[in-house]
Amino acid sequence: MAEQAFVTLATNDNYARGAMVLGKSLRNHDTSKKLVALIGPEVSEPCQSVLRRIFDEVLVVDVLDSGDTAHLAMMKRPELGVTLTKLHCWTLTHFSKCVFMDADTMVLSNIDELFDREELSASPDPGWPDCFNSGVFVFRPSEETYAKLLEYCSEHGSFDGGDQGVLNGFFSDWATADISKHLPFIYNLSSVAIYTYLPAFKQFGQNAKVVHFLGKNKPWSYTYDPKSTQISGNVSDAAAHPSFLLDWWKLYSSTVVPALQ
Ligand code: UDP
Ligand code: MN
Repeated sequence: MAEQAFVTLATNDNYARGAMVLGKSLRNHDTSKKLVALIGPEVSEPCQSVLRRIFDEVLVVDVLDSGDTAHLAMMKRPELGVTLTKLHCWTLTHFSKCVFMDADTMVLSNIDELFDREELSASPDPGWPDCFNSGVFVFRPSEETYAKLLEYCSEHGSFDGGDQGVLNGFFSDWATADISKHLPFIYNLSSVAIYTYLPAFKQFGQNAKVVHFLGKNKPWSYTYDPKSTQISGNVSDAAAHPSFLLDWWKLYSSTVVPALQ
């Protein structure tokens, strides 16, 4: 059986820091799968070198330089640069199945069981639950699907300007076709859900397997003092997910910071 992998994406050093924490969190929970990072050409050499120590494969994807259909799609839809880089994960055909995870996610337990699911499995989006959130999804690499996705992208663009719009447009029967493709929300728990439905979070939140720092403020937007183990910065919305944010920073400062030095 061909191998399986977790795949993430980082087009700049900030998201690369997120990818490092994600990779570390997967390793700490003893995943048996390969780890792959797709990166943009802007990621600095020191960050690339740390990524290469955590991930089995680090692939530089330069859509602008590709000269292929992705480049053509890019010419037609220049705003979709990061999205087109993300879609590149479908070309990883040396793997039979993969789980894509945003660089702003972190695992809290082993989630290798996700590989029992089929393409395209994902959790509901907290803002519009008939759409899936594209921060965590199961897919099967395939050149054919990749070509169709690029074609879809060039023709229809993205209704939300990002990859989630493209993917929900393409896998448009997700909401109704097959309940086994609905991942439980605990595989993509976003902080939004904590303040929109606090009693549910209190009831089920301790079962969370993946936390997703969705939205404008990312963990790396805050400052952390390792001595006092306190978060500072614009903590108004950090207050909604203080312990997850602290977990992210503890992992970052204990394992990534020393590697970057
Ligand atoms: N991403 C990236 N560079 C960017 C923006 C996004 O590499 O400038 C990647 C990264 O993996 C990120 C994902 O695309 O996690 C989706 O973006 P983001 O997480 O910011 O969106 P949100 O989950 O907040 O909607
Ligand atoms: Mn995200």
